[in-house]
Amino acid sequence: MEIYLDHASTTPIHPLVMNSINQSYKMYYANPSSVHEAGYQALNRIEEARKNLLKLLDGSGYDLIFTSGATEANNTIINGSYVQAARKHDSWLCSAIEHPSVLKPYELIKSKGAQVRFLSCDSSGLIRLDDLEGAITPETKLISLMHVNNETGVIQPIEHAVTMIRNLNPKTRIHVDGVQAFGKIDSSLKKMDPDYYSISAHKIGGPRGMGALIYRKSKKPMPLLWGGGQEKNLRSGTENTPGIVGFETAAILRHQSLQQNTSLLWAVRHQMIRQLHDQVGGIKLIEADTEAEQVPGILLISVDGTRSEVILRMLSDDHIYVSAGSACSSRKTAASHVLKAMSLDEQTIQGALRISFDETLTARQIDRFTQKLANHTHQMRKMIKR
Ligand code: PMP
Repeated sequence: MEIYLDHASTTPIHPLVMNSINQSYKMYYANPSSVHEAGYQALNRIEEARKNLLKLLDGSGYDLIFTSGATEANNTIINGSYVQAARKHDSWLCSAIEHPSVLKPYELIKSKGAQVRFLSCDSSGLIRLDDLEGAITPETKLISLMHVNNETGVIQPIEHAVTMIRNLNPKTRIHVDGVQAFGKIDSSLKKMDPDYYSISAHKIGGPRGMGALIYRKSKKPMPLLWGGGQEKNLRSGTENTPGIVGFETAAILRHQSLQQNTSLLWAVRHQMIRQLHDQVGGIKLIEADTEAEQVPGILLISVDGTRSEVILRMLSDDHIYVSAGSACSSRKTAASHVLKAMSLDEQTIQGALRISFDETLTARQIDRFTQKLANHTHQMRKMIKR
């Protein structure tokens, strides 16, 4: 039997989401831009989903466009702000631990001559607010910070950062990548007050290829995709009505059980950590200093005396699926940019495994995983000693 411990990469689709997508293919088959009744029905359904998602985000004063995922949403904001704004003295800021869909567009605009600075984080994976404070200037155009890091599960101090940025330069636009936060912790836009927020459906039991970019109504983004003018002229392309409905269903389901799931996830995490220490040993936890700064469903550990890519394959042969760093970089042998930014030593980085799960993980599955990991680890440590 498979044990899937890679929920931060993607999640299995929820059966009720699948039903809603199937139904939507049947009911809302028309092109939402068509001016006949079937077209209006599809368009109305999209507007309903938009409203419901904004409600879950506590987003009065905000609007939302549906995208093909968070990669597109992040690219829209960064590339768009560069195309729209770039004046010689403008500068851009982003934390060094962002997802590649944020880092790469910044690297691209940097290569075109933009002044981009990557902000550091501390050894527990939190962005350094003092570094941020020192970096903001009257020329700072846009700042990107993530809400929850996809490799460590560390919750970033967004509210503090936003207040600080607004005090230092009220004109700076603030972009937050909320992919690993939405549906997992409170993602109230009212509380955080960013200008832009990116989310993705497939991290919360929704379909792949669906995401959204939420923006403050007074700070419309510049489109990345041009064409027929769908999505308020901000994202052209025929709307994916079933995907949108599936996203809405997944988000509603997640929010209904958010509190209960969070308690269950903490219980699973604590149990897993106990067994890892008892059965495997030599485990270093790479996590925030307090539970308030950590999502429970992402557990990053380093297993002393091992190499994560070898352990990952051994576990995979047992049909147990974990990740070494983020899935996006795990096919490369390069060390994780996040762990490097945290200044972890080489050995800790080499042995780093990301275990990400949902609340349905059972005690038996935890047993099997920790036993297998213990066997492989002991085998590997013996080999290295020889
Ligand atoms: N940001 C973060 C923090 C992520 O974890 C991911 C997914 N790995 C993305 C952005 C990209 O999302 P999508 O797969 O929807 O493009």
